[in-house]
Amino acid sequence: MTDAPAHGFDTLQIHAGARPDPATGARQTPIYQTTAYVFRDADHAAALFNLQEVGFIYSRLTNPTVAVLQERIATLEGGVGAVCCSSGHAAQIMALFPLMMPGNNVVVSTRLYGGTVTQFTHTIKRFGWNAKFVDFDDLDAVKAACDDQTRAVFCEAIANPGGYITDLDAISAIADEAGVPLIVDNTSATPYLCRPIEHGATLVVHSTTKYLTGNGTVTGGCVVDSGKFDWSASDKFPSLSAPEPAYHGLKFHETFGALAFTFHGIAIGLRDLGMTMNPQAAHYTLMGTETLSLRMDRHVENAMKIAEWLENDPRVDYVTYAGLKSSPYNKRVEKICPRGAGGLFTFAVKGGYEACVKLVNSLEIFSHVANLGDTRSLIIHSASTTHRQLTEEQQIAAGAAPEVVRVSIGTENADDLIADLDQALAKATA
Ligand SMILES: *Cc1c(COP(=O)(O)O)cnc(C)c1O
Repeated sequence: MTDAPAHGFDTLQIHAGARPDPATGARQTPIYQTTAYVFRDADHAAALFNLQEVGFIYSRLTNPTVAVLQERIATLEGGVGAVCCSSGHAAQIMALFPLMMPGNNVVVSTRLYGGTVTQFTHTIKRFGWNAKFVDFDDLDAVKAACDDQTRAVFCEAIANPGGYITDLDAISAIADEAGVPLIVDNTSATPYLCRPIEHGATLVVHSTTKYLTGNGTVTGGCVVDSGKFDWSASDKFPSLSAPEPAYHGLKFHETFGALAFTFHGIAIGLRDLGMTMNPQAAHYTLMGTETLSLRMDRHVENAMKIAEWLENDPRVDYVTYAGLKSSPYNKRVEKICPRGAGGLFTFAVKGGYEACVKLVNSLEIFSHVANLGDTRSLIIHSASTTHRQLTEEQQIAAGAAPEVVRVSIGTENADDLIADLDQALAKATA
């Protein structure tokens, strides 16, 4: 599938990156369960280690099963290359690592997955990096936050947990002006609903744990590069533009051009940080990607029906689904994610924190888990779980106030899900 971009999404999600196994003709991508690969001879080994030839050395860096998934996700996102890693959180570190030095900062949205808020608030400080949290609906504030130590701007396309939609075009224009890349976490939207690169994103990160795999089996992450950023336009990104001592002074951007970030991610990022995706995980995720569009259409259809039902229920205070006409983000659906606002939203239960806890305990089809993007419908009370480490102020800013629950609407029959919510709301608000 070398002429892949000519095909439609439904075709690419099955075929991109894959070809019958050259050794056996196996039609499904084999799980290459191996740590190492035999070199043809000593010269071949030397060329691989010098990055003069592309090939497989050791599965911490590259593996044929993982490589198929990398090519598939890059193709679906419209990028030039991708690096898979062990989780979505690993992908975020892998995206920032080539950009940031001690003292640098990343300007990030307040509306993020709770674990990302924690990672950016506390953990990245150990690397000497800093995150500046800003309301991304306030464009002047985003602009003002970018300073000469800023090396990236980071947001989610459809922000977890509230389902808020980011104006990616406006944010990417600010990043361009500041001369830094925009990194978009596209986990909740998936490339079927939103293609951030078409809205100016330089890098796209995923937790493949969620919709891309789609069945709640494995954790994984991915960093996709648009190939469009000029890393040599300033001296801000020496990891990509300046000589690399660990490869005899090779300059990644000069040598690999549009693929500089991807090569750096493998040759430095995976080599030295070791956050590698294993081939079994890649296999499960490849299986998931084959049905991505079919599942996302159903997730969106169900989410819309259920959000409308909840909005009209007197036991519910408000629903944040951007697909609803009442949402302030509804006007962005057409522009950012025209196929729908995803399957994720929050709603506030009358009765607050206690009623939320009772609701979660009373549901029968919905599972109470810290995950999203499964075929199964899932629910979580963010304030007492995923967003527990946050202050109440941060919880509210992130859309995880104490009186709201987050749902990840699955692909079951919508009527069954509504009936389940109906009986649980009755118990929660009795
Ligand atoms: C789950 C999630 C992450 C973290 O991914 P893991 O695979 O759990 O490490 C990051 N961003 C978003 C939007 C997520 O939903």
